[in-house]
Amino acid sequence: MTPQTESEVKTLEAIADRFFRFTLWSQPAYPTSHDAKSITRLVENHCLAVREPNSPNVIQFTERCRLFLGRDVKTVELEAVVTECFSHLDALFFFGLLNRRVSVFHGGGTRSLVKLHFFTNGNEDVAGLFDKFRAAIGISLVGGLGLGDLLVVLVHEMVHAWLEIFSDATCAEHYSWVKRYRRHGEMFQRLFRFVVERVGALVPGDLLQNRILVWLNKMDWQVRQNSSWWDCFVSAVIP
Ligand SMILES: [Zn+2]
Repeated sequence: MTPQTESEVKTLEAIADRFFRFTLWSQPAYPTSHDAKSITRLVENHCLAVREPNSPNVIQFTERCRLFLGRDVKTVELEAVVTECFSHLDALFFFGLLNRRVSVFHGGGTRSLVKLHFFTNGNEDVAGLFDKFRAAIGISLVGGLGLGDLLVVLVHEMVHAWLEIFSDATCAEHYSWVKRYRRHGEMFQRLFRFVVERVGALVPGDLLQNRILVWLNKMDWQVRQNSSWWDCFVSAVIP
């Protein structure tokens, strides 16, 4: 990594380390910019999948996905497989920051910055969600989505986590970049498309590729509608 990139990642590490000690009125000035466009470009230009496309981490991700997608994964296994992919995707695209161990407020020990959990009951139309206050990604196993869809949903929620935890909310463009369309603004769309297309390029075969196209088409459709009711992956509107 270049010194500039290292400095940008260090800023994000500092944000992660104080996330659970965060107070709105004591936001420190960081040495490098971390607006949504800066941290989107950071991923696009410097994440491990781009920087070292032949690294063991990238090759292992490709091999594991090929293995998982090639067999009939039962519901019980889905949780383990998606959890493993969460770790791989974090290392490949998000500098390992979503899984970074951070201190919790009031001597609560440490935890992974972002937690991943699964829900097996509730509204079957909702495929995933990200809760910023709990720093938690929820993936639904209610609607019976297959592994290909769940991977895309996972990427979607990881992009929410990335932008909502790390981007500078005081930036003048924050609304249009992040918050618009119920948190699916311009940088959300750009980064989601980037990561999911890169994942598609890393994992051979039509199965995942077809599901990625479906979800990207759905996003484009929502943008064309200029939708104000856009929700995270409402399965009922899958084209
Ligand atoms: Zn969403």
